[in-house]
Order: sequence, then C-alpha cells, then structure tokens
Amino acid sequence: MDERIKKTMKALRDNNIGGYYAEDKNKLLELISEFIKVGSIIGSGDSVTLEQTGVFEYLRKADYVFLDKHKKGLSSEEKREIYLKNFSADTFITGTNAITMNGELFNIDGNGSRVAPMIYGPKQVIVVVGKNKITKDVKEAIYRTRQIAAPLDAKRLHKNTPCVKLGYCIDCKNLDRICNDFVLISRQFIKNRIKVIIVDEVLGY
Ligand code: SF4
Repeated sequence: MDERIKKTMKALRDNNIGGYYAEDKNKLLELISEFIKVGSIIGSGDSVTLEQTGVFEYLRKADYVFLDKHKKGLSSEEKREIYLKNFSADTFITGTNAITMNGELFNIDGNGSRVAPMIYGPKQVIVVVGKNKITKDVKEAIYRTRQIAAPLDAKRLHKNTPCVKLGYCIDCKNLDRICNDFVLISRQFIKNRIKVIIVDEVLGY
C-alpha cells in the first residue's frame, strides 16, 4: 500500500475517524455491505466517485431503504424532503473533495445538503475517496477543491459561472456560484461514526 494512504489512514484513526483501505471497486462494495445493516435507511451526497464505483447502483438494488436524490423527475420540494430525511438516516454515504494526510476532510458545498449530514445527524457516515484526493495539508486541500474540483463540478451541473469557461476559479460573485460552504472536518466525538474508505484508484475529481 502507498505510503501516503498508510499515513492518511493512521491520521484518520488518531482523529477518531475510521480509516479503511479498498484495493478496488469490488473490495469497496464488500466493505460497504459489511458496514450497512440490511433494512437500513441510507442517505447520500452528490458524488461522481460513488457513481463511477457503482455504489449508487448497488444501494438501489440491495435490501436497503435508499433515499435516492437522483431519481428522475423529483421536484425541488421533493429533493428538500430527502435532504431533511438524510439527517435521521442510519447511514449517510458521500464522497469528499479532499482528504489531508493529517486525517482531515475538506469540502466545498453549494447549499450545505452534503456537508451538513456529514457533521451531524446520521448515526454513521461513510466517505468514499480515491487516492488522487489525498493532499499534504489543508492549504493544498483548499487549493485542489477550488481550482480543480469546483470548476469541473460547475461544468457538470451546467452552471453559468466563469470557471466553466476558464477552467479555474476566480472567486466569482455569480448568481450560479456553487462555492458557498467551506467545511473542514478535523475530528469526531464518536469514534468511527465517520468511516473513510480510501480506494487505491483515481476516482472523481
Ligand atoms: S467561486 Fe465561482 S468561479 Fe470559483 S469555482 Fe466557485 S463557482 Fe467557479
């Protein structure tokens, strides 16, 4: 296993956050099925990583109550209901914009519906992250999120922001701006409430 992954996993554990390793997508799904009890209520955050690894598909087919925010045709009121239900889910599963080698999670969010349940509510939070999102420290985590992840996300979401054309962030004041909540999770009171699975692959952005 890569030294950077080893160091990050140890640092997570020192922060009361579970650190787990998956060499590939199959091992990732195996770990997820171990962590989530049959019949559980599952909420999720928007995540290219979860899409690429087949986690969303798995959650839809397995024996869980999956609060699927990606269902076609949902109104904004129906989405809001799902976001509120996420707080009382048994498990919330999500990606992250960056993870530092000091065992911290950094995210930028548009309306807070992804970062809020990471902080409080669900009994268990599972974070899936590819090795490409490991950063040396918070400064590098913020840089990668603002300059790499956010412009690509704005493009994916068809936003009319300057970064979509430029390919980098200019800290816009655009009405479509997706960078509103800057959240650093550095430690947990409840040991292993957050479980991070680092996948030894390049995933998401
Ligand atoms: S602040 Fe604006 S320009 Fe910068 S990444 Fe976010 S949406 Fe794009």
